[in-house]
Amino acid sequence: MRYISTRGQAAELDFAGVLLAGLGTDGGLYMPQAWPRLSPDALRALRGLPYAELAARVLAPFTAGSIEFADLQAMCRRAYAGFSHKAVVPLVQLDTNIFALELFHGPTLAFKDLALQLVGHLFEHVLAARGERVRIVGATSGDTGSAAIEACANRRNIDITILHPEGKTSTVQRRQMTTVRADNVLNIAVDGNFDDCQDLVKAMFADAGFRQEMNLSAVNSINFARIAAQIPYYVQAALALGAPDREVAVAVPTGNFGNILAAWAARQMGVPISRFIVASNRNDILARFLASNDMSVQGVAPSLSPSMDIQVSSNFERLLFEFLGRDAAATAQTMADFRAHGRMAVPEPVWHAIRRDFTGFRLSDEETLAEIARTHRESQYLADPHSIIGIAAAREQGPIGLPVIAAATAHPAKFPDAIVRAVGVHPPLPPHLADLYEREEYFSRAPNDLAAVQTMVRRFANRNTV
Ligand SMILES: *Cc1c(COP(=O)(O)O)cnc(C)c1O
Repeated sequence: MRYISTRGQAAELDFAGVLLAGLGTDGGLYMPQAWPRLSPDALRALRGLPYAELAARVLAPFTAGSIEFADLQAMCRRAYAGFSHKAVVPLVQLDTNIFALELFHGPTLAFKDLALQLVGHLFEHVLAARGERVRIVGATSGDTGSAAIEACANRRNIDITILHPEGKTSTVQRRQMTTVRADNVLNIAVDGNFDDCQDLVKAMFADAGFRQEMNLSAVNSINFARIAAQIPYYVQAALALGAPDREVAVAVPTGNFGNILAAWAARQMGVPISRFIVASNRNDILARFLASNDMSVQGVAPSLSPSMDIQVSSNFERLLFEFLGRDAAATAQTMADFRAHGRMAVPEPVWHAIRRDFTGFRLSDEETLAEIARTHRESQYLADPHSIIGIAAAREQGPIGLPVIAAATAHPAKFPDAIVRAVGVHPPLPPHLADLYEREEYFSRAPNDLAAVQTMVRRFANRNTV
């Protein structure tokens, strides 16, 4: 499989190239040159397979030419062996036609583990073949950092450094990062806020000499490998609910648009998903767009579902590219105008076409707590403040008579404060994290100063050289 940039000016790459590059040199996002197709018979043949096996078969056309199938299969097995539920991504019925697809049984209790656990192995494999070593640096306000650390810990040819704002992440989130004991992981607590951490990371990437010296890399959500690794769970859930012989809908708590884009990719591959419900909190740029073609940037307001607190959804560019008929010049122009004016001009016919597939939905913090309580009461199901927005969206917007897959993106124990407020009970951590509060923490402290942080990253990189 070859990959092209949504902006048309970056070199075509194979899967390994896309994995390591992330973003295109033209600022665009990589997309497969054509979507692989699974015929109805090919889909039926996937029914009943263990998750890792199904994932390898769904992903094989994307990695073809870069990775041998047997290697891919072995990596999928290793990536999902550490999940705490035998089904990896179990489906739980909440109502006649509403099913929670639980994506939170990985090491950090959020859906990002599904993609990142595999991406860690893919990086190791591709780097070993090339004889290269990378240093991943990132900043986190909570969730992504721990998933990236768990994915990269003990992977050969990778060092990972994650900056977090000291004293400004939740205890669960900090401990999920700092209690990982691996000699290729460096946590830095920065004397500053999340924006300072992000600025430090950007400055490290902008320093061309440092970037090259350290062979810096990132594992952010615009990497197509992450999107690809999220497709299999939609395929498996749809099959379990009757596909390809029955249509289904999906409702997805959305931030950067990566997870719901993966569902749409499953449809491109032949899975009959007839409706995509985009669930948002008060940061509702996508809901406004779908309601009235108003994609205008406003400030980010904190909410009970912090992983969905976004100003702009970067993966939306991929959908735009598709609905513009894969016209890279038009996509590049639309994105340039968006950056310049803070408002995306999507032509009316394109907007109408997107609305034929996508519906928006928005839930305030008060409604979020009320819906958590209602679902607990009516279905004895405890949903976290992200997952509940997808469940509420499925209730409100689900097409009559069709099963709706509501992506449950985080474990309730990750957000105990909201759960206590909603239902008055403290959700226990699952067994593999039960002693999280007793574990030893490993981290270094740094001032909010680029030179100081660069020195720490460099020392860490050279720790084994004399
Ligand atoms: C990252 C995240 C989301 C948003 O997913 P996108 O792919 O960015 O749309 C939703 N819920 C949780 C718990 C997350 O961690």
